[in-house]
Amino acid sequence: MSSRPHQGIGMTSQRTKERMVQRLGDQGIANLRVMEAMLHVPRHLFVDEAFAQRAYEDAALPIAFNQTISQPLIVARMTEILVNALPDQSPRILEIGTGCGYQTAILARLFDHVYSIERIAGLLEKTRVRLSGLGIANLSLKCADGSFGWSQHSPFDGILITAAAPEVPPALVKQLSDGGVLVVPEGTNQQVLRVYRKNGNSLEVQNLEPVRFVPLLGGVER
Ligand code: SAH
Repeated sequence: MSSRPHQGIGMTSQRTKERMVQRLGDQGIANLRVMEAMLHVPRHLFVDEAFAQRAYEDAALPIAFNQTISQPLIVARMTEILVNALPDQSPRILEIGTGCGYQTAILARLFDHVYSIERIAGLLEKTRVRLSGLGIANLSLKCADGSFGWSQHSPFDGILITAAAPEVPPALVKQLSDGGVLVVPEGTNQQVLRVYRKNGNSLEVQNLEPVRFVPLLGGVER
């Protein structure tokens, strides 16, 4: 794990991050690379200043434009699913729902290149500044309806949807590589975390635990 000094004092100190990661371990997260990424990325810089003191609590918090930053456990869990499912060699990841960019930053630490799409332009611009300020360069951001994916950069080895979709948008399945994995909170009121794996023409699905996400808006509803 990184021993580099971090900025910040008090509740945003390195010790607070270490406590969060320790809690993730108690909650069942086992992948050390995921833990290292969670220890490295300064979550307090992704939430509004008013909530910085609470950034390392096990809670979803409000961000701008009425959206939320997911709780650390679900970020770690979805990341761990991808890391465990994909080979180490240069996987390219597509994220739908950039939000404040926290999950994006975690993915960028673990994978070769991350493509991320957010539909709210104002939110994406703030996030773009934040991520480049942190010196994270192996990512591409776009303002669009993520339901349609990002075909010119496809196929993707992994796709992570960080908003709840009533069903997986077909364009995203199409843009998944053979052997690729898609992780999605599926459903509307009742949501379940699902993992799809593409094998040639077939799509295997695995149901995991119930989850709670803001809705994926656009494409599939029209
Ligand atoms: N990964 C984010 C979670 C943000 S919440 C984080 O770590 O903070 C979900 C995000 O999905 C919101 O920012 C919302 O605006 C966005 N979203 C919802 N529907 C979308 C769509 N069709 N295309 C792209 N982004 C979408």
